[in-house]
Amino acid sequence: MNQKFIVGVDIGGTWIRVAICTADLIERNIKTKISETLKENKYSISNSVCKLLSEFLSENCIKSEQILGIGLATAGPIDMIKGEVFNSPNLGFRVIPLKKPIEEKFPGIPIYLINDCNAAVLGVHYFEADDNEKENLAYITVSTGIGGGVICNGHLLFGKDGNAVEIGHGIVEPKSTIQCNCGAYGCWEVFSSGTGVKKRTLNTLNDGELKADILLRIVDGNKSNITAKEIFQAAREGDKLSKKIVNECIFYLKVGLGLVNNYYDCSSIFFGGAMMKDKEQILPPLIEQFEKDPIKFTVNHPPKIKITKYRDEIGLRGALALVKYKLENNPILEGISF
Ligand SMILES: [Zn+2]
Repeated sequence: MNQKFIVGVDIGGTWIRVAICTADLIERNIKTKISETLKENKYSISNSVCKLLSEFLSENCIKSEQILGIGLATAGPIDMIKGEVFNSPNLGFRVIPLKKPIEEKFPGIPIYLINDCNAAVLGVHYFEADDNEKENLAYITVSTGIGGGVICNGHLLFGKDGNAVEIGHGIVEPKSTIQCNCGAYGCWEVFSSGTGVKKRTLNTLNDGELKADILLRIVDGNKSNITAKEIFQAAREGDKLSKKIVNECIFYLKVGLGLVNNYYDCSSIFFGGAMMKDKEQILPPLIEQFEKDPIKFTVNHPPKIKITKYRDEIGLRGALALVKYKLENNPILEGISF
């Protein structure tokens, strides 16, 4: 009964994940549970987190008094002071209160709110980075959107509200006519995220200038069935339109990767996110470019390019690592006041 535990939560556009682990954060002691992200009203997410966590604790016979802290990772942007998410393109409401309603349900337990990509880089740091890359490390998710987290000189970069390294909304084509979910034009995520790849494919299909017979066969002629998955499959099979979109997706991944390396001078950059299911098409050209001819995209020494082995769970693992680092006053969190 005296054993202590730490809790991690990861709130995404589709799933809410929770994890419990003993305070030593040994991998084999991690237990996880998952439920769908409800978006009925602005409190649906905090209610779901509380319900999922309460069930999980009682299933494992753990009492609230045994919890040392909760790491709460969420798709951003976050407002650290108010403990809420604002302007989120993927969670559905202008403001989503998180910290306060969860604190009310679990009084006395410290809650540390973090943007999910900042959490993920902590997860990479704790669970899989080599010692010689831990000090200068970046994580990039390529999924519905694109986001990032950076550890520079051994410190997590956090920013004034907790939204540092919002790289997906870096504008890489200012004259682009394609609007991003954030409202700007020509963001990196317009070209390389799953949503962007789909949107640009549909636009190009409507132009009618390139053949897309293979893609249309894959989706049985139904354009509404097109996602990044079908586009990558069609590109592999030689579909002209899909190949153009995939090539541009990869080109702008090189652009973005180069910018991240120019800004943060990384030893290694880890990729994650749903788009990495097509890593055989995406990663080899990136690795080749940065090994053989990096100067076209970065002036700094090129980073090692890797992929996280924890897939969809890296943000959740990062939420656990955040609590552990916070409890031990790890210098990685120096200067960040949760
Ligand atoms: Zn944007």
